[in-house]
Amino acid sequence: MRTVDERLRELYLRTDRCVRCGRCSAVCPTYKVTLKESMLARGRIKLVREYVEANLQLSKRFKLYNNLCLGCGACLDACPARIETPELVRLMKIEMIKQYGMPVIDSLLLKRVLASPQSFRNIIKLFSINRKLGITKLLPGMIKATEQIIPEIPKKSFRDLYFTHRKREMKNSPGKYKVGYFVGCLTNALFPSLVFDIIKVLENHDCEVIVPEEYDCCGLPHQSYGDIARSRKIATRNIEAFLQKQVDYIVTDCGTCSHALKEYQNYDWIHDEEKLKAKAFSSRVFDINEFLVDIVGLKVGPKPIKECSVTYHDSCHLNRSQKIFSQPRKILMSIPGVVYKEMPEANWCCGAAGSYSFQHHDISQKILQRKMDNVKSTGAQYVTAGCPACLMQLDYGKRAFSLNSVEVLHPVQILARTF
Ligand code: SF4
Ligand code: SF4
Repeated sequence: MRTVDERLRELYLRTDRCVRCGRCSAVCPTYKVTLKESMLARGRIKLVREYVEANLQLSKRFKLYNNLCLGCGACLDACPARIETPELVRLMKIEMIKQYGMPVIDSLLLKRVLASPQSFRNIIKLFSINRKLGITKLLPGMIKATEQIIPEIPKKSFRDLYFTHRKREMKNSPGKYKVGYFVGCLTNALFPSLVFDIIKVLENHDCEVIVPEEYDCCGLPHQSYGDIARSRKIATRNIEAFLQKQVDYIVTDCGTCSHALKEYQNYDWIHDEEKLKAKAFSSRVFDINEFLVDIVGLKVGPKPIKECSVTYHDSCHLNRSQKIFSQPRKILMSIPGVVYKEMPEANWCCGAAGSYSFQHHDISQKILQRKMDNVKSTGAQYVTAGCPACLMQLDYGKRAFSLNSVEVLHPVQILARTF
């Protein structure tokens, strides 16, 4: 037996409940596209057991199979023994970092790119320059994949428009609800019009919207890569930035950010004061779909929209991590003129999974193809999703698999058209 982290040991002990029933094989996207035992929960569990029991080393192959897990959580939902494979996989990543250190590229990504919305935007600008120069074909693998996946890059980010150019002023009168809007890195850089649409919808729901000038990334990438110290530092800054504004609620348009922000209260805080602040912060956090339907009471505006068919893709962090699946559908179905079409396997991961689509491009693309086939089968004109990473991946999917007539939007953007 190896000496391993307490939490890893605890989960390892639970793995003997695996009855090898194979239910995870029916729902695992990575298994479906590879048909390899080591690419589904049952196989990944076996690898972890072999490692903890000291029969296996952390070889390159081990690392690859472990890191090819999307962390989507479909296996956990399907597993009669409730074995937490995504968490086991995450803890194994931390174990690898402990033994071999963090790969330089991951470390750079966390420190320099995913540190804040501004630093992320600066990297996106480089891709924009590269596109203008037309040198994509010359780029090495992962960068080339990234370049292909990112959609058309807006000239200005939301923060550029909002803070530097003051393109939009706040509503003068304070609303019934004082709402802080956590605009995540991806939304800020690539989807500024989504933010303005959401602000419009919120203001039409009697909300005063505040976007603090200074805050960081949500910290989820740092958690997933096992950089716990940095994720705690990030959380502290974000908590301060929003609590200082004395907001009643904190909303985001990103399923990953809302999941991460809600988790701050469960971090391993050292001081009671930090714990209390984290609790005060996390208890105010809502995904925008959840906030409109469950908190303020959904309103649809008076403007008619042209009849259109719309489908919805469940982001894993909304559906599985936060159990938010009825709210976005309710929003879409309440808009006169929208014909809602449920797609098959709506809750299957689209293959975006953070940086997975860049790092494991081939597998991600196969997973995406299955998703786009399902989108196509509905015949819908719009495919919607509640997470910018999914929006980016679906947009890439429509370009890669010739679904050019389909438009990709956040569900609240369709609601915004009624105001
Ligand atoms: S569903 Fe659970 S119990 Fe069944 S094989 Fe998969 S991990 Fe084991
Ligand atoms: S988390 Fe998703 S990708 Fe990973 S083993 Fe489970 S179902 Fe498969």
